[in-house]
Amino acid sequence: MAERMLQFTHVERKMPEKREAKARADDFAEIYAEFSKEAAGAQAARCSQCGVPFCQQGCPLSNNIPDWLKLAAENRLEEAWRVSSATNNMPEICGRICPQDRLCEGICTIQQSGHGTVTIGSIEKYITDTAWEEGWVTPIKPPRERSQSAGIIGAGPGGLAAAEQLRRKGYQVTVYDAYDRGGGLLVYGIPGFKLEKHVVERRIQRLEESGIVFKFNTRVGEQVSLSTLRAEHDTVLIATGVYAAKDLKCPGSGAQGVYPALEYLTASNRKGFGDAVPAYDEGDLNAEGKRVVVIGGGDTAMDCVRTAIRQGAKQVSCVYRRDRTNMPGSQREVQNAEEEGVVFEWLASPEAILDTKAGKVKAVRANRMKLGEPDASGRQSPVKTGESFDIKADMVIKALGFDPEDLPELFGEEALTVNRWGAVRVDYATMETSLPGVYAAGDIVRGASLVVWAIKDGRDAAEAMHKAMKAAARAETVAAE
Ligand code: FAD
Ligand code: SF4
Ligand code: SF4
Repeated sequence: MAERMLQFTHVERKMPEKREAKARADDFAEIYAEFSKEAAGAQAARCSQCGVPFCQQGCPLSNNIPDWLKLAAENRLEEAWRVSSATNNMPEICGRICPQDRLCEGICTIQQSGHGTVTIGSIEKYITDTAWEEGWVTPIKPPRERSQSAGIIGAGPGGLAAAEQLRRKGYQVTVYDAYDRGGGLLVYGIPGFKLEKHVVERRIQRLEESGIVFKFNTRVGEQVSLSTLRAEHDTVLIATGVYAAKDLKCPGSGAQGVYPALEYLTASNRKGFGDAVPAYDEGDLNAEGKRVVVIGGGDTAMDCVRTAIRQGAKQVSCVYRRDRTNMPGSQREVQNAEEEGVVFEWLASPEAILDTKAGKVKAVRANRMKLGEPDASGRQSPVKTGESFDIKADMVIKALGFDPEDLPELFGEEALTVNRWGAVRVDYATMETSLPGVYAAGDIVRGASLVVWAIKDGRDAAEAMHKAMKAAARAETVAAE
């Protein structure tokens, strides 16, 4: 069968069909279609089945990529799905939104030899979407029930991955979340054109059908305390993400019409669910007919500019202080944004937000920058050139990143240690925090990161929680004998 592989010399790399920019700017549906069976097989067969698969090393989950590519090439999709889902709790979500160019695909060997990389992410998505369609993805039935329980704080990808892993082993699992639905940033941050919401909802529903209990509208630290959860459960996981938006430090940043990115994106995502969102309905958080300026160059900024286009903005600009090569966001998303009509102002940094007498935003004044010496991170620092310019604006969105909330204060647990950025400190071998029996995973440990890393942490933490609970159960049995 191996002859079926190694097709990269005469089969070109092809992504699934992408909808025309004009058509996709009118709705929030995903922009990439699904591969056909033939196209998925042909693209999978391009893989050269490397003895040392670099793609696997580039994947935070160490996914067994060559094996599932070979099975997909042979149209053995159920087996491919079993291999793929053994290391990833949501392969179809990662296949959609991992920045593959910086992970698995970025170091694919055939790309290094001058051929286009294998379209790993799209094939991963195809395999698991097929598994859902065919009914292979069913509720978890643990081999045996255990009486011990785990409390998971946060229903984002980190918390969900841990919940699933623990339930598989038969533990009783309760997930607490401040929001009214599960998914965390998968539902309220990332827009539908990258990840349609039904894809996340079916995952949550399956976990509910597997016996995991979800307690929504429950903010730990307010509605229930961490100490109560520690008393109720044998182990606890903190997977609360990072939500304190970094602020714009320039005059006028408090003008009317200046909003934090997540407030804007959450309102838009809620509208997609059909929720009542007064701030959107009354026009404040709706970009329709407005000149919108988004400040920032990460994935959040890209999601804001493309959301504004879909809401019918008159003009959308993105202001970022470094150049295109040095931006943190995915190049694929910049290209998509450009196709949809977003104007990028590279090497520009806001000097002031100008407002009207009534205090309403009217323009962003930006300094023209150039790249200077590398900073501590090794990236060249932007420095002012002395030139400035104005961009007219009716709405400004601040997408400058996120910091952790003050968890020791929120949880009333001074003994919970955090690093100087406020992220929870863990022992990376176990993901255990300074509080015994309390573990942490995802953005709250790493700072704003990626879905795939949150899944990896959730799985690692679940494994350590399992070991601790198993050891405790054994000790109890010995003591009783
Ligand atoms: P989250 O997803 O943030 O989930 C945390 C959950 O905890 C939330 O549901 C929250 O309500 C809950 N919570 C918080 N505090 C409490 C509390 N006190 N009590 C109870 N519940 C609480 N990553 C990618 O890989 N690809 C992308 O394309 C991408 N795009 C992004 C776009 C945007 C706009 C943003 C903001 C992020 C994006 N990311 C992307 C990053 C990715 O979403 C995060 O890294 C990932 O969601 C982190 O997972 P998590 O489980 O740690 O936290
Ligand atoms: Fe690539 Fe992400 Fe899938 Fe890993 S999980 S193989 S990094 S798309
Ligand atoms: Fe296949 Fe590329 Fe991975 Fe090699 S690095 S096994 S060619 S996907």
